[in-house]
Amino acid sequence: MIISIDDTDSREGMCTTYLCAILMDELKEYGTIRGSPILIRLNPTIPYKTRGNASTAFEITTSEPEKVMEHVISRVDELSELQSEMTNPGVVFIPEDRSEKVKEKLGEFFLKAVREVLQIDDAKNLIANLDLPSRGWKNGRGLIGALAACGAMLNPGWDHTYEYLAYREKGAWGTKRQVDEESVKEADLATYPNTWDTVDIANNAVVCIPHAGDPVLFGVRGNGIEPVTITSRMIISEPVERYAIYKTDQGTDLHLIPVERIADIKDMHSYTIEATVDTRPETIRGGHTIFSVRDDEGDEMDCAAYEPTKNFRELVRKFLPGDRIVFSGSVKNNTLNIEKLNIISLVQEQESVNPTCSECGKRMKSAGKGQGYRCKKCGTKADLPELVEVKRGIETGMYEVPPCARRHLAKPLVRCQEKESEKNGKVFPSR
Ligand SMILES: [Zn+2]
Repeated sequence: MIISIDDTDSREGMCTTYLCAILMDELKEYGTIRGSPILIRLNPTIPYKTRGNASTAFEITTSEPEKVMEHVISRVDELSELQSEMTNPGVVFIPEDRSEKVKEKLGEFFLKAVREVLQIDDAKNLIANLDLPSRGWKNGRGLIGALAACGAMLNPGWDHTYEYLAYREKGAWGTKRQVDEESVKEADLATYPNTWDTVDIANNAVVCIPHAGDPVLFGVRGNGIEPVTITSRMIISEPVERYAIYKTDQGTDLHLIPVERIADIKDMHSYTIEATVDTRPETIRGGHTIFSVRDDEGDEMDCAAYEPTKNFRELVRKFLPGDRIVFSGSVKNNTLNIEKLNIISLVQEQESVNPTCSECGKRMKSAGKGQGYRCKKCGTKADLPELVEVKRGIETGMYEVPPCARRHLAKPLVRCQEKESEKNGKVFPSR
């Protein structure tokens, strides 16, 4: 049987993954947990999300499905942050004998939940149509994520990574996390690039430690169970109450929809689109860098590198009208929030400088307004200035926001290095 849970946390506490880890331990009494639990990130633009718009699922082989369902429902009821207005838990069960029948429909629902904007009724209707055992609390919004996680579990073909999540002892919740930062940096060096986003070297930040009052101590992301385990075990910290390693759609770009025309872009969706820079980037109040791009049909749209993307803005500020770039990111208020980009071509800009003397090779001086140029030493004359290419200070290739600004679903360039480099030159992972 598949068990999936969503939306049990609030901004202040709990974490759906922690509840999942507890249940996996407690349910051993009724059966055997099969394979890795999954952690699914859904459409990152949805405003209802508490912290990360994540849902979880795991699979158990059991001869007592009724007891399992009863246990899960009573524990979610007990441990969810039900007092928080934003918390609307949902739990869905897929009995073993129903899996084949509902697999395809739930697989479609999973992809929609990552890329589109679904309503609570979309989930409730599908649950009713497929006649699935489920339970929603309050408005039942969590049923969307729970149903999506079931779809992911039943259709394991999606690109995936892993995250090792270490949880705090209950008495420590809400207090400052005690983690030795030097040990985190060493742990990162031991497995990078098979793990990523543990530290942000350019911005001198440890990024694997959350700051809210939830039970997560740290999370290490990587391309396999082994590297995330090696790194996590090297981290020196306060006592770890328990941990779990999730298979996840984090770091896969599953949210990105490829489009060719700006006309096809809708708010609250995420895209990959090739376009031409149309205006010089401007940095507005708050430190956000904004510029306009144009597609081949002449339609325009704003792109932004917001203040939290830190050093990434220095790259963006060098763009000039005419540069050809593939942008990836989420669209809100008709503005694409850049997560990564691929510079296809850069315009050559020329500037005029005083010409060089054909005799001595030195720069000539201006001979006066409208008088051309003259070499003082040799007396050589020239009428016109020389045109030279302006140094752009950037090159074609793939770039991304730094780890401190990474979206959960965004595929880090360390994962793109092998394949993409064959297609289009260089890849510049942010570190
Ligand atoms: Zn000269």
